[in-house]
Amino acid sequence: MAAAYELRCRECGKRYDNAPLSICEECFSPLEVQCDLDAAKRAFTREKIAAGPTSMWRYQALLPVPDDYNPATPAGWTPLLRAPRLAERIGAKNLWIKNDAVCLPTLSFKDRVVAVALANAQTFGFHTVGCSSTGNLANAVAAQAARLGLKSYILVPADLEPAKILNTQVYGATLVRIDGNYDHVNRLCSQIADRYNWGFVNVNLRPYYAEGSKTVGFEIAEQLGWRLPDNVVVPMAGGSLITKIRKAFKELIALGLVEEKEVRFFGAQATGCSPIAVAVKSGADTIEPQRPRTIARSLAIGNPADGIYAARVIRDSGGWAEDVSDVEIVSAIQELAETEGIFTETAGGVTTAVTARLYAHGRIKPEDLTVSCITGNGLKTTDALQGAYEQEAAIRPRLSDFENYLEERSDDRELVGGSSVR
Ligand SMILES: *Cc1c(COP(=O)(O)O)cnc(C)c1O
Ligand SMILES: [Zn+2]
Repeated sequence: MAAAYELRCRECGKRYDNAPLSICEECFSPLEVQCDLDAAKRAFTREKIAAGPTSMWRYQALLPVPDDYNPATPAGWTPLLRAPRLAERIGAKNLWIKNDAVCLPTLSFKDRVVAVALANAQTFGFHTVGCSSTGNLANAVAAQAARLGLKSYILVPADLEPAKILNTQVYGATLVRIDGNYDHVNRLCSQIADRYNWGFVNVNLRPYYAEGSKTVGFEIAEQLGWRLPDNVVVPMAGGSLITKIRKAFKELIALGLVEEKEVRFFGAQATGCSPIAVAVKSGADTIEPQRPRTIARSLAIGNPADGIYAARVIRDSGGWAEDVSDVEIVSAIQELAETEGIFTETAGGVTTAVTARLYAHGRIKPEDLTVSCITGNGLKTTDALQGAYEQEAAIRPRLSDFENYLEERSDDRELVGGSSVR
């Protein structure tokens, strides 16, 4: 049976059969999966999707996996929530949150890309898989490899958050800490993948991996009642996610599932690692690599593989990119938690702080339907909030002690005494 997808060079257009390959041998540009949209048309109707599983696999017909693929992990299909309290704080009127802080199985959007990458690792016959990771990818590869019975080698920068290290090791993965930053780790992974013939999800399987990000875009459109938003705000590390949300919207338009519309794309980075945001702001068509220095470690890629493409998507769509300081990231984490009950990791702090600034600077109009993409869970980066909250001394389990306690808190003093009890 003919495959309904193949690899294609992004620059010269050369076509390749499906293989663990990520770079064009003619021009050294990145390869991308091209799905046969005509073939997908029959399998990809609103009705068939609605009858599918409540996971990202409801979009299987537009993902590069074999027709008869039987997924082991129900990742994705996360909530799209209105955010009225946050909106009020930042001057928005129609703000929504795509909440991948609760993406299963490992609480970040990386579960989506790994699900597609490992499906292909199996097709290509790899028994050992791995990745270079800033943290969330490590967790997702370790968990899903365990479930599929694959061996995994995970390479990370040595200074990763403790929770992200533990959340890799618990699945029995081999975790290799590298004395260097993500870009060093990634270069080493390319060499290992060649030497040992292992399937590295974001190296030799990268074109397949990247397609998993499309499901964020498919879900946003379906959850809005099959329409596209005016704007999306997306955090950027390697720059892949933002380009694939755009690809998802284009595919839905091509299939006639949503009305054509120009969605504006806004990119979010931390100032301590902002090569894509800098390129967008300066109008440059090249990415100047940076040495990362930020608490948003999941976004700390100084030389982003898809940086150029991300910058183009943003510029061509009429969007913009912003970067925010570590202090702003921490307050944005708190603000999102206090207003909407969503505890996100540092990357979500970046997205939330950038979203607020885009409204403040008039880059996003208050009435626009805007989706802010929260991509990871705060329980993985609790060290970012170290010292933010005081632990008070314990009190005895007596009402009088509680009343004394309230009295000592000046803010709450007016609550004490019979007159305030309604
Ligand atoms: C990896 C990651 C991103 C960015 O993904 P890219 O596709 O590399 O730009 C965003 N948020 C979180 C939490 C991530 O782990
Ligand atoms: Zn090429």
